[in-house]
Amino acid sequence: MSDERKAQLAASLARVEERITAACDAAGRARKEVTLIVVTKTRPASDVRLLASLGVEHVAENRDQEASQKARECVGTSLTWHFVGQLQTNKARSVVAYADYVHSVDRLRLVTALSTAAVRAERELGCLIQVALDAGVAEAASRGGAAPEQVPALAAAVAAAPGLRLEGLMAVAPLAGPLAGHPLAAFEKLTEITSRLRRDHPAATMVSAGMSGDLEEAVAAGATHVRIGTAILGARSRLG
Ligand SMILES: *Cc1c(COP(=O)(O)O)cnc(C)c1O
Repeated sequence: MSDERKAQLAASLARVEERITAACDAAGRARKEVTLIVVTKTRPASDVRLLASLGVEHVAENRDQEASQKARECVGTSLTWHFVGQLQTNKARSVVAYADYVHSVDRLRLVTALSTAAVRAERELGCLIQVALDAGVAEAASRGGAAPEQVPALAAAVAAAPGLRLEGLMAVAPLAGPLAGHPLAAFEKLTEITSRLRRDHPAATMVSAGMSGDLEEAVAAGATHVRIGTAILGARSRLG
């Protein structure tokens, strides 16, 4: 059973690896410029362990309760854990216990809560600011994220906060507004915002963008980290 699942995961990982390599080739980028993060939300810890045994180094989750339990069940693996979901301030303490990176920092109150929690836990947390590329669009699906004009203030707050390290920006392709259905243009906007950010924060080099359906566009636009779920693990029974 587990052997069969392992073979399945190895095959889908190989297909995604081929896609990333082809996208890097097409963009004239080196394969090592792009890091694969496998999004394991809704999947059992057994899948995460199999992924680790297949050489996966980075996994991501989007719900604290599920993630914290899974991370405990995977003790002994050397995985790096990324948190990519909308985060309530009262979960900061829990998230800091297992997460190495939070990609969804989108407001000052969350910066404060994560900093307090990181200091208390004597951990250092890598932080990405999530940018809402559909900010200002009335029908914007609320998937979280700060408006682009809020990025400089949030970045300064993260950079100044004890226990936090400013790593870069994250976005998901918008479902509403003029950039909906145009992931390349959306991700190019994200790269542009990152270039501005790097003038003040040269070490903030991470651009987290691209999922199963749009990783090629993300790599073409300059993403350094792609977050892939269904293309590796199969369709989920619950959304996002
Ligand atoms: C679920 C999720 C992904 C992965 O999406 P797939 O389409 O399954 O590859 C990436 N990023 C975030 C923030 C997610 O919530």
